[in-house]
Amino acid sequence: MPFGQTDALRYYQFDFFSNNVLNAVFTRHGGVSPEPWTSLNLSVSVGDDPARVAENRILAFNALGRNPASIHDAWLVHGTDVVHAEAPRSLDGPTQKADIIFTSNPRVSLFMRFADCVPLLFHDPKRHVIGIAHAGWMGTVRGVAEASIKAMQERYGSKPGDVVVGIGPSIGVDHYEVREEVAAQFRDRFGADSERILQTREGRIHLDLWTANALQLQKMGVEQIQISGLCTACHLEDWYSHRAENGKTGRFGALMALT
Ligand SMILES: [Zn+2]
Repeated sequence: MPFGQTDALRYYQFDFFSNNVLNAVFTRHGGVSPEPWTSLNLSVSVGDDPARVAENRILAFNALGRNPASIHDAWLVHGTDVVHAEAPRSLDGPTQKADIIFTSNPRVSLFMRFADCVPLLFHDPKRHVIGIAHAGWMGTVRGVAEASIKAMQERYGSKPGDVVVGIGPSIGVDHYEVREEVAAQFRDRFGADSERILQTREGRIHLDLWTANALQLQKMGVEQIQISGLCTACHLEDWYSHRAENGKTGRFGALMALT
């Protein structure tokens, strides 16, 4: 497994992006927050002290040698709106509501927070653009992966065949049981492909978000996809899982930057 480590901070890194793309999905190790957020919690919306979250964020950026002020993040709302980050974002200002961020500016560090939802990391080495997207079940039904590739085509002139996508640590099919009304939305959206996404086990329906997002990307023409295969709920020692920890947990961070 391609993990990097700086002091006590440990992070997953896709090894198939080119060398000028810095990427890391931080595990929960190496931060300052106590239970139930132990320890590198990067979200202020889960009850943790904002001062500790700020300290954790600075630790994470420093671990990768990125200036904490280079951040551009978003307020996640399970939608398909896209933000094009042309410059870093002041954390004192209002946060844009979006689940997809792109940049072509090496001075910007894209940053997003997760606990079971799927991190999608994008790079087009021809057009020098990177992106991070957030695809939970709702975002996946609404087509976050598809909207991301469309945005790359329209804004940057990307060809899907050039685009490289990493599917990061998130809840795996074994741990992701869903209600019938959720399954029905996937059947509507994916048609016959839903048989590859929904699995019935002992009368219960399980959802495979990794395959759902990979299928959407492939339909858009993306050929280079790497799935980390790491289930957050299987590895609570390393990751936050909203599902497995009954909502009492933190959020881990994903960071991406052009260097
Ligand atoms: Zn699992």
